[in-house]
Formats: sequence, structure tokens, C-alpha cells
Amino acid sequence: MAEIYDVIIIGGGPAGLTAALYSGRARMKTLLLEKATAGGQAATTDRIENYPGFPAGIGGFELTEKMKQQAVEFGADIQEIKSVEGLDVDGEQKVVTIEDGFFRSRSVIIATGAESRKLEVPGVEEFHGKGVSYCATCDGAFYRDRVVAVVGGGNSAVEEALFLTRFASKVYIIHRRDELRADKILRERAIDNNKIEIIWDSHLKKIVGNGKVEQMVVENKNSHDRNEYAVDGVFFYIGTVPNTEFCEGLIKLDGREYILTDESLQTSVPGIFACGDCRANLLKQVAVAVGEGALAAVQAEKYVEETA
Ligand code: NAP
Repeated sequence: MAEIYDVIIIGGGPAGLTAALYSGRARMKTLLLEKATAGGQAATTDRIENYPGFPAGIGGFELTEKMKQQAVEFGADIQEIKSVEGLDVDGEQKVVTIEDGFFRSRSVIIATGAESRKLEVPGVEEFHGKGVSYCATCDGAFYRDRVVAVVGGGNSAVEEALFLTRFASKVYIIHRRDELRADKILRERAIDNNKIEIIWDSHLKKIVGNGKVEQMVVENKNSHDRNEYAVDGVFFYIGTVPNTEFCEGLIKLDGREYILTDESLQTSVPGIFACGDCRANLLKQVAVAVGEGALAAVQAEKYVEETA
């Protein structure tokens, strides 16, 4: 008979790691399944300035590594998997199917976060890894004294454009409106940075090159004028889409595929909870994710006790 966990947490970003810490500390038999290195999107963020307790900011990787250590310290078992293929309910138990097997649990916490939205324009697919990137923290250092572009106008785009100025000689931000969506403090920093040039009201139309990115074509949405820019790299930060495909057909999602929950973070299926960026919440922040992770773990514990 397969081992039965009290709680299986799917996803190892800040929400999942906090849920694992709380569940482990509550002496629940806890398994956390993580697709790649634990830490989620936060781990690829160069510096997190708005997580309390670190007045000088903290590296995203360092912060999530510490969260992971703390979860393991309190007894959570963390297993790396390729992917979660499905989630089902079998009587009182939940069944989490992975690429080559399955796990059984009394409760499940979904903390799968979100991933970068992809832009479908010519060259994006072709030059992925050859100048097209979704992670400035990972790839920024390759662009020392080079020219790069960032597509997007939200917090991620502006933060990462600022990070890229440490290496690149010039950073274009291509934004489809005439005002950045990013927080005011970031907008000010971008506008004050003389390495950054914002290309307003514009869409990236094409990336061209010979084996690697060499040029981008950008169109002004008002005049429809097209301009070519010599660039060595293009980074995309045009928002995120939740990792919830495996929930379809079982759990209620909103129109954008985010998981709907009640205030105890329980989904439409009793005993299955959701927290962090994959949930239909109002703010995508590490501070919110950890709070939701803690709440989901406590609610899962209650559910397990009440249904034992
Ligand atoms: P976001 O806030 O949704 O911003 C996405 C940006 O991409 C927007 O400027 C949007 O333009 C643009 N965009 C969307 N689709 C596009 C398309 N098809 N073509 C061109 N541009 C497109 O996403 P995010 O910056 O990845 O952030 C995700 C969440 O994490 C947000 O809630 C954000 O606040 C949070 N976050 C917070 C921090 C922080 O607090 N330090 C850091 C990073 C992320 P419009 O503005 O015209 O819609």
C-alpha cells in the first residue's frame, strides 16, 4: 500500500515552502513536489526590496534557499519531479499523478505559481536561448557592454531593466502604452537612469538575426511607423500565466485560469487548498504568498483533523 501523506504541497515557491514549513512544524506528514530547483519565480529575482525584515533587500535565491532549509528543518520531505500530470479525488484521499507514478494524501495545497507569458512574434521562438530570455538574473551578465531590450511595463519589466543596466551599455524598454504600470518608485528610477530609453506606445514586431539576436523591429501603435534597432538581447516581462492546467475539470478556475478559493483558501474541492500566485488573489507579492502559504497549511491541518 502506497504511503499516505497528510498533505502534499505542489510547488516550491515562497507560498509552497511556507506551507511546508507550517505543515512540517505541525507534525503533519508533508511532501512538497517541485518541478525544478525550489524557489519559484522569486528565486530568479535579483533583489527583493519589499519583503519585510531585510532593510537592504535580499537576493531572491538566498531568501528562497533559506525558506527551503527551514521547511526541511521542520520535517517536510521535498522531492523534485518533472511535472504534475493530474489531480484526483478517490474517496477521502487525493491522488497526485506525476510523470511516472502517483502519491496519495489526505489534503493537497496547490502553490504552483505562474510562469512568463510568451509573446508570439517572429523570432521569439527561434532565438530563445540565443538572445531571447525570460530571466535577466540568469542571463544578464552575458550582456556586458551590449545593447538589450526589455518588453513590458510592469514591476518585473522595470526591475529587471534596472538590473540589466549593471551590465548593458543601453537598455530599451518597449512598452505598449504611454505610462508604465510599475510602482512609482521603480518608474522614477527607470526614468532617471541614463542607460534606459523607453520606447513608448510601441509593439515589438519582429526579432531578426543570424543564429543570434541582432536586430528588433518596433512599431509605434499610433503612427504605425516601424523602426529597426540593433540589439544583442531581448528580455520578456509581459506578465504571467498561472500553472493550473492540471486542475482543469476538477477545480473551479476564474476566466484567466487562476484558482478560485473561499476565505480559508479551500478550492471548490474539499481538502484541496490553493495559495500564492496561482490563486485568484489581489496582489502577487512574496509577502502575500508566504501569508497565504501559512493560512493554507493551517486550514489543511484542520481539514485533516476533522476528517480523520
Ligand atoms: P504585470 O504587472 O501584469 O505587467 C505586465 C506588463 O506587460 C504590463 O505593463 C502590460 O502592459 C505588458 N503586457 C502584457 N501583455 C502584453 C503584450 N501582449 N504585449 C506587450 N506588452 C504586454 O506583470 P509583471 O510585471 O510580470 O508582474 C506580475 C505580478 O508580480 C504583478 O502583480 C506585479 O506587481 C508583481 N511583482 C511585484 C514586484 C515588486 O513588488 N517589486 C516585482 C515583480 C512583480 P499594460 O501596462 O499596458 O497592461
